[in-house]
Amino acid sequence: MKGFSTRSIHIGELHQLDSVTTPIYQTANFLMSPSKYRVNYRDNYIYSRMSNPTVRAVEQKLANLCGAKEGILFSSGMGAITCSLLSVLSEKDKAIFLTELYGGTHSLIQKILPALGIKCDFFSVDDISTLSINDAKVIYVESLTNPLLKLTDVEYLSKIAHENGALLFVDNTFLSPYNFRPLEFGADLEIHSVTKYINGHSDVILGFVTSKREDLIDMIWQKMYTLGLNPNPFEAYLVGRSVKTLALRMEKHNHNAEQIAQFLSNHEKVTNVRYPTFYTRIPKCYENCPGFGAVVYCDLSTQERALHFVENLKIFKQATSLAGVESLVTIPSLTSHASLSDEELKRAQISKGGVRISVGIEDLEDLVEDLKQALEKI
Ligand SMILES: *Cc1c(COP(=O)(O)O)cnc(C)c1O
Repeated sequence: MKGFSTRSIHIGELHQLDSVTTPIYQTANFLMSPSKYRVNYRDNYIYSRMSNPTVRAVEQKLANLCGAKEGILFSSGMGAITCSLLSVLSEKDKAIFLTELYGGTHSLIQKILPALGIKCDFFSVDDISTLSINDAKVIYVESLTNPLLKLTDVEYLSKIAHENGALLFVDNTFLSPYNFRPLEFGADLEIHSVTKYINGHSDVILGFVTSKREDLIDMIWQKMYTLGLNPNPFEAYLVGRSVKTLALRMEKHNHNAEQIAQFLSNHEKVTNVRYPTFYTRIPKCYENCPGFGAVVYCDLSTQERALHFVENLKIFKQATSLAGVESLVTIPSLTSHASLSDEELKRAQISKGGVRISVGIEDLEDLVEDLKQALEKI
């Protein structure tokens, strides 16, 4: 596939034994050389909260997949998001956020940032053309939104951000570096919940950020170890293995999801099927994407029907996560968006009968059969 080199998956040796057999500290002869310490202490493994050889190998591997040299792993996606924002924002600074953000990020913006004196403004992905940046320091978006799968024009936003001296942060979790690489379109920082596609096996919680800007990486890395948001080396090691099949998994996710979206859109009991390959217009930066990942949204008109449907599914499990090898299903109005009032749900364009499916890499015919039998029962 054009632009995505699976070769880069093999860059960086995995020092899996180092994390198990070596102590978490470096011995004194290194520390007694202050000049070395100053030159590059991230690569000298003084203490494992700051850097670790296994973690480092995986960070460089992932950065490479995103078209950068450096990256930082975190204990979770939320750790990555929190640390990135707190590295560049302080009291009285302003940031602008997409309204359609992941729920956890919303909580951070609502509960933590204002208490630190950071001003938070919002804009909808539908109103991008009228966005004015004023004196904001950061614009924060997701490339593909949850659960309605809207595509944010990263190329346009990076242009207007830079014209106004702001930074553009992009949470690219829903597309993965296989489908889309925001740094190529001017984003200053790319963020991932590694928990989702990059690990892909629903057995690890980790986060990642990468950038072409060394100064940004350095600032965020120093905050990461100061706040203690460091990842566990064993989990990093698991991600180093998982990522070897990222391309294969993404091809299957892309294919299965598109076929299932097609099936659902032809079904008489289903309305408003959303999947980006169906859109008549998408921002130019997404025109060469090989696909749009595992998530499909559709509407079964009432919450009762949606509940009945998901309870009848056999292969699709009802669970909150997404982007793993197994197929999952949720009802956003009862889970991720349960705290929204009827009015807010309406404004967010999420129906009470809305269903979000994360299509796994199982056999496509089995998945379609399962959906078919569950739809017959409602
Ligand atoms: C899951 C998710 C996160 C949070 O990641 P964790 O690893 O669960 O902390 C952030 N952004 C998006 C888009 C996500 O889907």
